[in-house]
Amino acid sequence: MSSNNSNLKLVAKTKILNGGPLPTVIAGPCSAESEEQMLQTARELKKDPRVSIFRAGVWKPRTRPGMFEGYGTAALEWLKTVKQETGLQTAVEVANTSHVEEALKYGVDILWVGARTTVNPFSVQEIADALKGVDIPVMVKNPVNPDLQLWLGALERLNQAGITDLALIHRGFSTPNNKPYRNHPKWETIQQIRSLAPGVPLLCDPSHIAGRRDLLQTVCQQALHLGTDGLMIETHINPDVALSDASQQVTPENLNKLLTVLDLDSVHE
Ligand code: PEP
Ligand code: MN
Repeated sequence: MSSNNSNLKLVAKTKILNGGPLPTVIAGPCSAESEEQMLQTARELKKDPRVSIFRAGVWKPRTRPGMFEGYGTAALEWLKTVKQETGLQTAVEVANTSHVEEALKYGVDILWVGARTTVNPFSVQEIADALKGVDIPVMVKNPVNPDLQLWLGALERLNQAGITDLALIHRGFSTPNNKPYRNHPKWETIQQIRSLAPGVPLLCDPSHIAGRRDLLQTVCQQALHLGTDGLMIETHINPDVALSDASQQVTPENLNKLLTVLDLDSVHE
């Protein structure tokens, strides 16, 4: 499909990117684990003016049962407290209608659709329907498999439901050989999805691409080199004891160092 037959009619710049300095930095834990963990992480992140949005997973799509699946609605209270105390915008993953309803009820600023949801048009349509008449930015992660049409289709479903404030998040793909990464970056897809969805900001999630904190810098550098509009980086006050994705999360202090090494302030000048 070329850009000509895309149904997307999107605003060139979204609130997501107008919310703070460019490239937009979204940081926060993979999972919301306690009010203390959320507040400690957020207070440290707030000290870095390059971070404008706080992320946290509240409903966690785990590959196998029996793993930590998130605290759900209770964690939305903690997210609300983070917003009230720090003034950071908040973002959460939604995977169904009830997630959308709960997130809206608790005043979450930005929603995102996760990789395991983007693969399922029924789920994406359910989310889109629940968002009819709602003015909120929505970010869409790529599907787990490298299918750009599926990614584009999710954007279109949300757009047709009236959501114009959209962004894409590249989090890598599951391929037969992802090494050394957790998910293959397939960097050529950056250009391809840009031409399929012109004007839609494209962020990168180096955490889920890398899967390991020692590879984060390389992934970030490649993403920024390709002109990505923002980074979503999982950040935890004590990554080693994280209940999910412990090996890829960084402390707020190390995020600060990483952003400095990346020379973020000069990237979009
Ligand atoms: C996440 O952001 O914590 C997450 C579950 O990511 P993904 O949907 O990319 O796997
Ligand atoms: Mn994660």
